[in-house]
Amino acid sequence: MLLQNIRFLITQNSERQILENTDVRVEEGLIEEIGELEARENEKVYDCSDKAVMPGLINTHTHASMSLLRGISDNKKLEDWLQEDIFPAEEAMEKDDIYTGALLASVEMLKTGTTCFNDMYERPDQIVEAVEESGIRAVISRGLFDWDDKGKERIMEAKEAVKKYKGHELVTPGIAPHAVYTCSIELLKEMKDFAEEQEVPYHIHVSETEKENRDLEAEKGLSPTQYLHEHGLFDESVVAAHSAWLSDKDREIFAETGANVAHNPAANLKLGSGIADVPEMVRDGINVSLGTDGPASNNNFNLFEEMKTASLVHKLQDPRDINERQVLDMATINGAKALGLEDEIGSIEEVKQADLIVLDLNDSELKPFYGARGLISNIVYSYTGHPEKVFVNGELVAENGEVKNVEQRGLLKKAQGKVEKFDKARSKE
Ligand SMILES: [Zn+2]
Repeated sequence: MLLQNIRFLITQNSERQILENTDVRVEEGLIEEIGELEARENEKVYDCSDKAVMPGLINTHTHASMSLLRGISDNKKLEDWLQEDIFPAEEAMEKDDIYTGALLASVEMLKTGTTCFNDMYERPDQIVEAVEESGIRAVISRGLFDWDDKGKERIMEAKEAVKKYKGHELVTPGIAPHAVYTCSIELLKEMKDFAEEQEVPYHIHVSETEKENRDLEAEKGLSPTQYLHEHGLFDESVVAAHSAWLSDKDREIFAETGANVAHNPAANLKLGSGIADVPEMVRDGINVSLGTDGPASNNNFNLFEEMKTASLVHKLQDPRDINERQVLDMATINGAKALGLEDEIGSIEEVKQADLIVLDLNDSELKPFYGARGLISNIVYSYTGHPEKVFVNGELVAENGEVKNVEQRGLLKKAQGKVEKFDKARSKE
């Protein structure tokens, strides 16, 4: 396949080059060549003379199946939101709900230009099924906690899933203990050893709320970051979701160990949890990526919107604190790095996987643009995320808002049909 005469190729390579009037050849899912290329005989050619091509976006913190709980509960703090509405509704989640929710999420992500997500939830097999069907890429981990008597069972499931999905074309398995307040230190340690042995990401919520910090401080005299670090659990495989309440000392630990932050500004704002000090993190050299969190606290999976929110929220004190280039990095190459996939995705470079999105430059949200710099500005501050084409692994998986392999009308009807059950579950509490 040849993407020909690309007006702007936003590579996100180490020099952050934006190439003009160039071509990209994709062979067997990989970016084979970039430059002035002649079409081969019988090669599929896409004319991109009025298009921008950029890497697909990477969402580093999701609970995809929670898309079925979108709009079930708003206007509450995290603790009340979880206890009163979300946990009771989740109790009612069955196998088919996990699959349907994950498929709905995958469709929404592909339509809005996200080509990879990092998920923490139950029943990994059903989420993998949705990933395979839609053609999106994902890091999938069975969420873990052990405050009840089912901790061991979950650990077994998580380990099995890692072994089962290693080497999968679209799925990278991971390990995801929920948080320090829901997991024993034994679980956290056992699963860190396992993640290390299997060389997979270690995805965990860290300092999402001030309460989480206060409670651990009272019990152990340490912040979540310090507590995890003291037990040797912090390194570059850690993807710490939220990190909205990090102290100077915590940030030092992140910078020293190479642990990654998955920043979720919309979810943090919506639940009134707090604002991560991202400008300071960036100054400290911490790798910051972007996530949406579950859609019950966002309430969507649109990373273009998330880029804008991230920009605006950190400009509140001083508009010079963050710029559009840094935010675009968070949604692309930094996300790949956080997931240990920087050699495969996150930028458009030779021999990386062809996870690319094509934007139509004749879109009113992208016009006019003041050269390449202005195009990046439009992508972050103006564009609402409706790419013309979306490729994952070199496959055209979405075009003009339609995901090729998913019959959307049926899916949406099915999702709507599940509302009553969850609403009832919640109302009983
Ligand atoms: Zn979360």
